[in-house]
Amino acid sequence: MWKYPKRFDVIVIGGGHAGCEAAHASAKRGASTLLLTMNLDTIGKLSCNPSIGGTAKGHLVREIDALGGLMGKVADETSIQMRLLNASKGPAVRSPRSQQDKILYQISMKERLENQENLTIQQGSVLSFLLEDDKVFGVVTDLGISYEASSVVLSSGTFMRGLMHIGSSTTPGGRSGEKAATGISKALLDAGFSLGRLKTGTPPRIAAKEVDFSSMLEQKTEEGVFFSFDEKHAPLEKRSCFITYTTQESKNLIVSSLHRSPLYSGKIDSKGPRYCPSIEDKIVRFAEKERHQIFVEPEGLRTGELYINGISTSLPIDVQHALLKTIPGLERAQIMRPAYAIEYDYALSGQIFSSLETKRLKNLFFAGQINGTTGYEEAAGQGLIAGINASLNAEDKAPISIERWQGYLGVMIDDLISTELFEPYRMFTSRAEYRLLLRQDNADLRLREIGFALGLISEEQRACLERKKALLQEARKNLQKTFVAADRKTLSLEQLLRRPENSYRSLSQAYPGKLLACPFSLQEDIEYDVKYEGYIARQEKEIKQLQELHHVFIPRDFPFRSVVGLRKEAVEVLEKFSPTNLQTASRIAGVTYADISILRVHLQKRGAE
Ligand code: FAD
Repeated sequence: MWKYPKRFDVIVIGGGHAGCEAAHASAKRGASTLLLTMNLDTIGKLSCNPSIGGTAKGHLVREIDALGGLMGKVADETSIQMRLLNASKGPAVRSPRSQQDKILYQISMKERLENQENLTIQQGSVLSFLLEDDKVFGVVTDLGISYEASSVVLSSGTFMRGLMHIGSSTTPGGRSGEKAATGISKALLDAGFSLGRLKTGTPPRIAAKEVDFSSMLEQKTEEGVFFSFDEKHAPLEKRSCFITYTTQESKNLIVSSLHRSPLYSGKIDSKGPRYCPSIEDKIVRFAEKERHQIFVEPEGLRTGELYINGISTSLPIDVQHALLKTIPGLERAQIMRPAYAIEYDYALSGQIFSSLETKRLKNLFFAGQINGTTGYEEAAGQGLIAGINASLNAEDKAPISIERWQGYLGVMIDDLISTELFEPYRMFTSRAEYRLLLRQDNADLRLREIGFALGLISEEQRACLERKKALLQEARKNLQKTFVAADRKTLSLEQLLRRPENSYRSLSQAYPGKLLACPFSLQEDIEYDVKYEGYIARQEKEIKQLQELHHVFIPRDFPFRSVVGLRKEAVEVLEKFSPTNLQTASRIAGVTYADISILRVHLQKRGAE
């Protein structure tokens, strides 16, 4: 074994979405960082859909950008279609979504990482950890190189003992055409971690030249939608997506082929994402539904490959071919890459702190799919937090956490550390209790200061935020103190804006020169704050109550068994998840309000002693 001559502060394993953000954040904070990944050509690869964002996921990307992460900037730069989803619904659920040029996304991500100071990038497959008692101090790769570091982030995605399925054929691999990671699972099991199996799947890619787009509904790009709060540029030419549907024939084919699906023949028994089901699952679970929507999405500007969003499957290739023939517009389509399902190892719940450091091994952090999540954005969000905390750990500083009331990132991590996962975890707006406060448009107002304090946001970016805040304040004051004649009354502009039929723009037109001129994105911020003021105030009050619980700390290795009156069931789950404060404890399934009251009294007494 050769010991690499340089010692790093942080090593990040895996150049997927979690690994890219982790490596970038750690290096940007000044920690000497090594990104070790199996194949440099697949850094930032979009394993499945060629898109970023969407409902709730778009919120995560905006938050990553607000904190100084990369995903939003790379997505904007390589976007070939941008849309604001749910534009006709309430502000809480509006979310940007972008179609990416897949290859350019990878190139841009790799280029940005290569240009990042303090970051070394090397190709290598990590097999095991360097351990001293219960502390990690480095890794060993397949080339027999040992690297030492103060912190290690593991973000190995779907690669740990990955097994791909198409019909009855199974192939070990982390992703189509790529090797599985085998050593890491063994190293984790040897160290005492508990691993489980999950699965996910992807649809076929077909060639555009045989597709009849005339029978489909076209979906064009929208102007002026961006993820990033900084670099508002989307230089690429835009492309449309197209919508088509499955037919009765598709349904008949799937039903008659179910016995050939590894999902139904019992070959795969691990859980997949319920909300992102395979076409065979959809046909079985929603038997009454006549047809299922399919989005035909371009994979890039210089490729004719199309991603057939909506027919993820593990059915054999002949059934996949026959299925396409039953779908209007795809009758002549040729498959370029078949659909497949993949099973992989993940770390069972209850093994990480909110810092994403593992409870079993100090200095080791988990981020991304390994924590049981699914999705690029979920992975990137965890990667960012893990990268920050790994670099803080290397400096012997306390970790940070984003709380549930601060962002979707906080909701996700709080859920991960307090909930038993029975299926891959994906972000939804419904998971966030304080949706009206956690909007995608105000992610910078919520999180930029935190990014600045961590060294991830520059003085210039902060100054820009300050200008935004000042303009918002000024515009709001102006609305409050400017009175106009309306409905034979004298009303303030703020009172008028509160009415559902009015918008900042419509009032600016009705009362020229009376409202402060400001960009559309700010007009929206002001509108939401005015229109939803009552609800927002109520949510703020609830947050205060929650914060009280949050500030009651539970020490590490707290002896829950010694608390008189705590039920046995509560003791078991509290020991399993070892929450660090009462708020997280209160979210664990099996812990009641009565348990929290008992714990609170006990902890307060202990604190007073
Ligand atoms: P990944 O993006 O998987 O990246 C892992 C990285 O780690 C890779 O670069 C790999 O080379 C590297 N690596 C692994 N092991 C080692 C090692 N030992 N040493 C060095 N490097 C290593 N998500 C959805 O939201 N919806 C879907 O429908 C969906 N379908 C999917 C279908 C398939 C077939 C696959 C493969 C994934 C799918 N996903 C889907 C999941 C999505 O791709 C992941 O959630 C996301 O990519 C996870 O990011 P990550 O950074 O955790 O891991």
